[in-house]
Amino acid sequence: MIPDWAVERRKMVDTQLIRRGIHDARVLAAMREIPREEFVPTESRVIAYSDPPIGIGYGQTISQPYMTALMAECLELTGNEHVLEVGAGCGYAAAVLGALAHDVVTVEIVPELAAQARRNLKRAGRDGNVKVIDGDGGCGYPGDAPYDAISVAAAAPEIPAALMDQLRDPGYLTIPVGTREDQELRVIRKSAGRVLWRIATLCRFVPLRGGEGWR
Ligand code: SAH
Repeated sequence: MIPDWAVERRKMVDTQLIRRGIHDARVLAAMREIPREEFVPTESRVIAYSDPPIGIGYGQTISQPYMTALMAECLELTGNEHVLEVGAGCGYAAAVLGALAHDVVTVEIVPELAAQARRNLKRAGRDGNVKVIDGDGGCGYPGDAPYDAISVAAAAPEIPAALMDQLRDPGYLTIPVGTREDQELRVIRKSAGRVLWRIATLCRFVPLRGGEGWR
C-alpha cells in the first residue's frame, strides 16, 4: 500500500518539528510541501518521514528532518536571498531552501550524489531555482558569491575562511563545528561590519571532506 505522503508530511511537521520548537511559518509550510520521498533511495521510501537520518549511499545520509528545518530557520530567509549550500547529498535540504529563498547554489563533492541530487530535484519539480555544482564546497563557490545565507551540511573542524569571505553583510551562516564525532551547530551573523555567533544545538553530522575538512 502506498502511504498518503501529504498525511505523512503533516505528521512529521507536527511531531518532529513543531513539538521541538520549530516555529517559522514559512519553514513549516516548506516542510509540508517538499516531497521528501522523492529524495531518499527507493527502498527507503516507506521511512522517508521517520525521525533519524537515512542512508543515501557513498557513506552519506539525508539529514534528520528536524536538522534541515532548524538550519533553514536559523538563516531567517524571507524569499529574496541568494543561498549557498555545502553538501547537496540527495538535494532535499536544497529543495527546502529553494522554497524559502530566491535561489540556491549547492555544491557536492561526490559526483554520483551531485547527479542524484539533480535527478531528484527535477523529479520533485524543484530544480527551477536550485543549481547543483560538482566540487569541494569547503572553499565555497566564488563564481556566484557573495551569498545572503550559507548552510553547511557537513561537520568541519573550523569555519572555513572562504565561506566567511563569501557571506554578504548582512548575512547568516550555519555550520556544525567540532570533532568528527560531536559538534555544535553554530549560527554566524554578519551585520554592520561585525560578526556575532551563537550555538543552536548540539549535533552529529557527517564530516566535511576536502581541503577544509577531514580527508
Ligand atoms: N543536504 C543534505 C545533507 C547531505 S549529508 C540533505 O539534504 O540531507 C552531507 C553531504 O556533504 C554529503 O553528501 C557529502 O558528500 C557532502 N560533502 C562532504 N564534504 C563536502 C565538501 N567539502 N564539499 C561539498 N560537499 C561535501
